[in-house]
Amino acid sequence: MRELELYRSHELAGKIGRLIRKYASALRSRGFKIIKLMNFCGTHEWTTVHYGLRGLMPREVELVAGPGCPVCITPSLCVEHAIKLSLEGVTVYTFGDAFRLPATREVRGARSLREAKALGGSVRVVYSFMDAIRDAAKRGCEAIFLAIGFETTAPGYAIPLARGLVPKNLKLLSALRLTPPAARHAILATVERGLEPVRGIIAPGHVSTVTGAEPWDRLSRELGLPAVISGFEPLDLMLSVVMLLRMIYLGRVGAEVEYRRLVTWEGNVLAKKFINEVFQVSDAAWRGLGVIPDSGLELTGPYVKYDAYREYGLKIPDGREDMPSGCRCADVIMGLAKPVECPLFMKVCTPSRPYGPCMVSSEGTCAIWARFGGGGLADKVAREVGL
Ligand code: SF4
Repeated sequence: MRELELYRSHELAGKIGRLIRKYASALRSRGFKIIKLMNFCGTHEWTTVHYGLRGLMPREVELVAGPGCPVCITPSLCVEHAIKLSLEGVTVYTFGDAFRLPATREVRGARSLREAKALGGSVRVVYSFMDAIRDAAKRGCEAIFLAIGFETTAPGYAIPLARGLVPKNLKLLSALRLTPPAARHAILATVERGLEPVRGIIAPGHVSTVTGAEPWDRLSRELGLPAVISGFEPLDLMLSVVMLLRMIYLGRVGAEVEYRRLVTWEGNVLAKKFINEVFQVSDAAWRGLGVIPDSGLELTGPYVKYDAYREYGLKIPDGREDMPSGCRCADVIMGLAKPVECPLFMKVCTPSRPYGPCMVSSEGTCAIWARFGGGGLADKVAREVGL
């Protein structure tokens, strides 16, 4: 508890805020008009908006959201497959936010698993893959698990599979994705569109507890811009901004770790061993972004017998026609548009009736902005910390 209070201290926020201004001012005198930093992860966006961190930044420093919300980027086709199977009597296990995730196309009258359940589909919301394993084993029913998530979640599937805990009647519909390739994709997209380039990456702390810092170091060197792996408290993020500005000022690339209380260079070696045993890396579709090379995990070796795509002859998502008409999630998750720039925001699309995928999960940028507003508590906090 004491540590948590430390990472939310107003007094320290004031000091760190002044450091941010100092480096921003030094960069301004070198000709930087905008210093765009991408916070890859949905949880970072939550912290940024909830604590009003954008309002604490000097005008040169722009924090933009990236594609790090696993629910937002799960292809519509995965949801459509799950809806169809549930209405054919196959039990679909899923997490609560994926339960509400809208598909682009209606399948037999349903556009989400929630609607499929209302129409009599067999859908069960669980807290974990282990819950689904226990339930499917007890009931002996034909079942699939809609497996969404990033590197953080992957061990939760890999370990039970590798240890032979998964019953034969339960298959995996993998929408598991890897984060560094998507960060590369989003950052290069700003360059391709001739927009203000991203100058630094705020990399996801929880993903990096598994992967370690090394993949972000590699990406940073490839793109020639610094990365800082950040924790999720407001001062974690503010410190990460200081570290990035300092690296930009010194002309450094590579990854530095702010979230040292949990992230190591090599990550969780055991978890990675299980992931590599059960899955292989493949090209994969991200909703709104299309197919990104080497960004997905698919079952491999003896574990392909658990593959729902093979079992039911399902088409692998190819990223086409993946967004509902008018939804700007594809731009929102690449930091190219703010939720308020979508004409449907809080009119057609609301947290209670999400139209697009970014309005569903607590990590979805539109859902976060809908809940707290883009500025959050900025003005109040800025006054309190003396900025
Ligand atoms: Fe998509 Fe809704 Fe966000 Fe608009 S407000 S970009 S429709 S999720």
